[in-house]
Amino acid sequence: MKKLVAGNWKMHGVASDLAEVKAIADASREYRGVDVALCVPAILIERATRAVPGFPIGGQDVHFAEKGAHTGCISARMLLDAGATLTIVGHSERREAQRESDEEVKAKAEAALNAGLAVILCVGESDSDRGSGRALEVVDRQAERSLPDAATGQLAVAYEPIWAIGTGKIPTLEQIAEMHAALRQRLIAAYADAGREVRILYGGSVKPSNAAEIFAVPNVDGALVGGASLKAADFMPIVAAAAASKVEGSHEAA
Ligand code: PEP
Repeated sequence: MKKLVAGNWKMHGVASDLAEVKAIADASREYRGVDVALCVPAILIERATRAVPGFPIGGQDVHFAEKGAHTGCISARMLLDAGATLTIVGHSERREAQRESDEEVKAKAEAALNAGLAVILCVGESDSDRGSGRALEVVDRQAERSLPDAATGQLAVAYEPIWAIGTGKIPTLEQIAEMHAALRQRLIAAYADAGREVRILYGGSVKPSNAAEIFAVPNVDGALVGGASLKAADFMPIVAAAAASKVEGSHEAA
């Protein structure tokens, strides 16, 4: 399966950072075997797509409604209209700060997929879930409740342990393998054979120094990268590690 390396710029980036978007898009052309994308702040999407035509630019959230009285929110149609081809949904920073429920995340994923956007749907456990031995149970329940009803080739799931985001800490490779295998099982339970084709990304403190070992873990089909996606100098070695990693076929049942 072709790997996907997506950057999440969060609330970083103004017009002067479009040079970095361009540097990443240009350098990504050398890695045809990897899908690369950048999810930038909504207000930068249109300018980014004009700066790098054909390079996938995404949003970081989408509303589940088509339109209406939702001050400050952005619909799937608006993202498409600005030139976006994908969006993140259910990032833990939104689940936490905006109190987004699994049901809301599912509705957002379905709205985006139905409109024609690719979706990266995030799940992940807290530090205390991991500490109390409940990580697998918590993430599986989150996935079960937030996965859209129908799988399409446009869906990816990102496993992002909350305690690993922006902290420099990552789970052991065994913990990543265990969680990704469980997510694969959940995807197969939800979508039968089509569940083998859904990419499962790892996210949380991915850096040039740890990317290769993470990409070698079974069922890791790419990465969602925060801090290290802001600069081409940090991001491109991660893309290169994805390109150098073994390309697995569709996944066997875990
Ligand atoms: C993220 O927030 O999606 C993320 C993975 O952040 P970082 O890479 O900075 O840990």
